[in-house]
Amino acid sequence: MSTIPDALDNSSTIIASLFPEATEREHIFAFLRQMVDGYADEIGSLKVEPTMSKADIAGVMARYDFSGSHAPSAVLGDLVRLMEQGMVHVTSPRYFGLFNPSTSFWGTVADFITALYNPQLAVWSHAPACVDIETKLIRYLATLAGYDPAVAGGSFTTGGAEANCTAMICALNQRVPGFARDGLVGQAARPVFYISAESHLAWVKIALQSGLGHESVRLVGVDAQGRMDVRQLRKAIADDRDNGLLPFMLVATAGTTNAGSIDPLQELAAVSQEQGLYFHVDAAWAGAILLSDRHSHLLAGIQFADSITLDAHKWLTAPMGTGMFICANRRVLSEPFAVTTNYMPVGDDLNLDPYVNSMQWSRRFNGLKLFIPLAILGRGGFAEMIDYQVELGNYLKQSLARDGWEVVNATELPVICIRDTAGADLDAIMAKVLAAGEVWFSITTCGKQKALRTCITSYRSTPQDVDQLVFQLNAARASL
Ligand SMILES: *Cc1c(COP(=O)(O)O)cnc(C)c1O
Repeated sequence: MSTIPDALDNSSTIIASLFPEATEREHIFAFLRQMVDGYADEIGSLKVEPTMSKADIAGVMARYDFSGSHAPSAVLGDLVRLMEQGMVHVTSPRYFGLFNPSTSFWGTVADFITALYNPQLAVWSHAPACVDIETKLIRYLATLAGYDPAVAGGSFTTGGAEANCTAMICALNQRVPGFARDGLVGQAARPVFYISAESHLAWVKIALQSGLGHESVRLVGVDAQGRMDVRQLRKAIADDRDNGLLPFMLVATAGTTNAGSIDPLQELAAVSQEQGLYFHVDAAWAGAILLSDRHSHLLAGIQFADSITLDAHKWLTAPMGTGMFICANRRVLSEPFAVTTNYMPVGDDLNLDPYVNSMQWSRRFNGLKLFIPLAILGRGGFAEMIDYQVELGNYLKQSLARDGWEVVNATELPVICIRDTAGADLDAIMAKVLAAGEVWFSITTCGKQKALRTCITSYRSTPQDVDQLVFQLNAARASL
């Protein structure tokens, strides 16, 4: 018992270190300011690959066994070193990698404000302003997708995987009789769903998470451009029906991770309609082009989807943890996720409460990371950024073709997969270029063959950065 007063005595110092006094806070803000300014100035000159080895990282981490306390300046100093040297700099203008954008300054500010106020968005009545901001954003994007905003709905998610999983639950609930009551137990026929062989592998995890199992996944073949082959799809559905299975959902990918391909949305919408399938479009990355008048036509047909996945943390520059599930009719969300409890505050209109319209319970204000930049830049600002990146992708494509690289994927979006026309060893080229640390890209398979995958992901990238990428590739190839 004697430890309790001790703990109370200590609590004042603990509280002081959690919430430093004004002068100390000034130092921390000055430090943060220096970090933000320094980072923005330096990002172009940092090595894109980590320069710390696993042992170097362990060396720093050995200082922390959590048995004692450290001065904030020491902890922050260590952390800055770890962040600068112990990670791939996805915000570098010379990161031509996966769909990880340079975050905007305003998105970063939004993340900080959210953490400071820490609103709880589970129920509308706890954070009405925040829920209304998110609802407005979802309806805005729903409108751009061609949905009727009066009935459309959706929710912010932690990312595309959660949004896709949400779609799965909605689809099962809409199209598998008795699912809400009995789940998959006791289904007379196995439910099966259709994705292309080029779709995101999150779907395979989702098949497990939802209780369907891998046997319910149909990977439909693709054409030479990496788009779902509609004839193969029709045949797969017919075969499954003949075998007594229950087709319930079709997923189109709009912007594949590998090659930026967009499945034929209009035709797939027609198949869904005719076959009575729930139709979802996974546009986690390329859904951003809904904001661009010049490129939104590439998504024609998306308006026929029952729901859409769109990650603001991909091409819309939001920091991580900003995905969206958007549906044509918000009933598809409220039906499977509605619950009543005796401990949650009850609002006037249950339809407004995010926790009964989504997979999450406690809910972070992730939508702010899209709201602030969109409010400041407007749609036009985002459109300009997207159009610029598409043009830079075309410049990269031309530069590569000029220098004897074969572009092996066909997309209007800025993902460019290449092989050397003379068959040089791609793994060796990649290892050499990444080790130099000047640029970053990845390797994939495209049409069953290995290819280097480059992608314009940063609004900071300039033609000079693209020239540097091509220079590095050429030099590595020449040195083999
Ligand atoms: C990134 C991506 C996902 C997964 O989204 P996360 O935000 O990483 O969870 C799913 N589908 C597509 C097409 C993607 O590009």
